[in-house]
Amino acid sequence: MPDGISKPRTLRYPAELIAAGLLAPEDRAGAEAVAARYAIAVPPALGALIGHKNDPIGLQFLPHPDELVLAPHESTDPIADEALSPIPGIVHRYPDRALLKPLLTCPVYCRFCFRREQVGPDGGLLSEAELAAAYAYIAARPEIREVILTGGDPLILSPRRLGEMLRRLQAIPHIEILRIHTRAPIADPAIVNDALLAALDIETPLYIALHANHASEITPDVVRALRKLTRLGIPLLGQTVLLADVNDSEAALGGLFRAMLRARVKPYYLHQLDPAPGTARFHVSPERGRAILNQLRGQISGTALPTYILDRAGGLGKIPL
Ligand SMILES: *Cc1c(COP(=O)(O)O)cnc(C)c1O
Ligand code: SF4
Repeated sequence: MPDGISKPRTLRYPAELIAAGLLAPEDRAGAEAVAARYAIAVPPALGALIGHKNDPIGLQFLPHPDELVLAPHESTDPIADEALSPIPGIVHRYPDRALLKPLLTCPVYCRFCFRREQVGPDGGLLSEAELAAAYAYIAARPEIREVILTGGDPLILSPRRLGEMLRRLQAIPHIEILRIHTRAPIADPAIVNDALLAALDIETPLYIALHANHASEITPDVVRALRKLTRLGIPLLGQTVLLADVNDSEAALGGLFRAMLRARVKPYYLHQLDPAPGTARFHVSPERGRAILNQLRGQISGTALPTYILDRAGGLGKIPL
């Protein structure tokens, strides 16, 4: 950056969102009330995509007063992560796969997040002792073949820390596959730099699942960042949440899945929204979701179609819809 021009920053406060023209001054009281309860972050790359607070990008990331309205079916732990967590940072529901959540911080906070009660800027970085206990838990269970790093967003760890973690996991003899769930390349494509690439360049097959909900998130910068990952031989999978007014149409979903394929991302899961608190404005019925996917079948490549998945309440696990 030349002198005198400050680098754009992530917006975290309602006043900043108003100053940037993303919210109107009359939205301030509602946004402040939400900010007191849930984390907000709109990084420059995503802020630049917001034309209006009710467009598909604005809806996903700008605070809205309805977030404080709890619908009767909503829960603070919609998929029972807590109940299935034997030790801090581990969630173990399926015998052969374990989740490892090294941190609960994200580069952007989605207003519909199923872990919204847990994630935040000062949240959940595992201590060295907790990490050691997590490795020991995995090492003691030969039935675990795959470790899925999630959070929070593992790609915002320092490359040194993330690289160390991946190498510790690949040293466990029964670990065949590693996977990282992330939104970081979309929130900040520059995060995919040489240091991160070096950290991700491991022998154990590593898959990356990218969370994206609208074609406009897959910008040319994002495509370039993803290309660096596929050059390392990392297969990319796409995860999408079906969201009212964001992507609940054939045009929006079809456009997203085609944009993913062009970026070498294989659409993997379309998630039915989990009933986290204050997310009812995003609800789309399973019938509507099925109808959209049925319409898309035949219109777009079969390789573009994900599995439509419901994560059942109470830790019962995922089922196709
Ligand atoms: C979703 C999930 C996984 C991964 O499931 P896949 O179907 O393999 O993508 C693993 N563990 C838990 C607890 C999960 O919620
Ligand atoms: S990036 Fe993922 S974990 Fe973070 S707020 Fe969005 S949905 Fe939640």
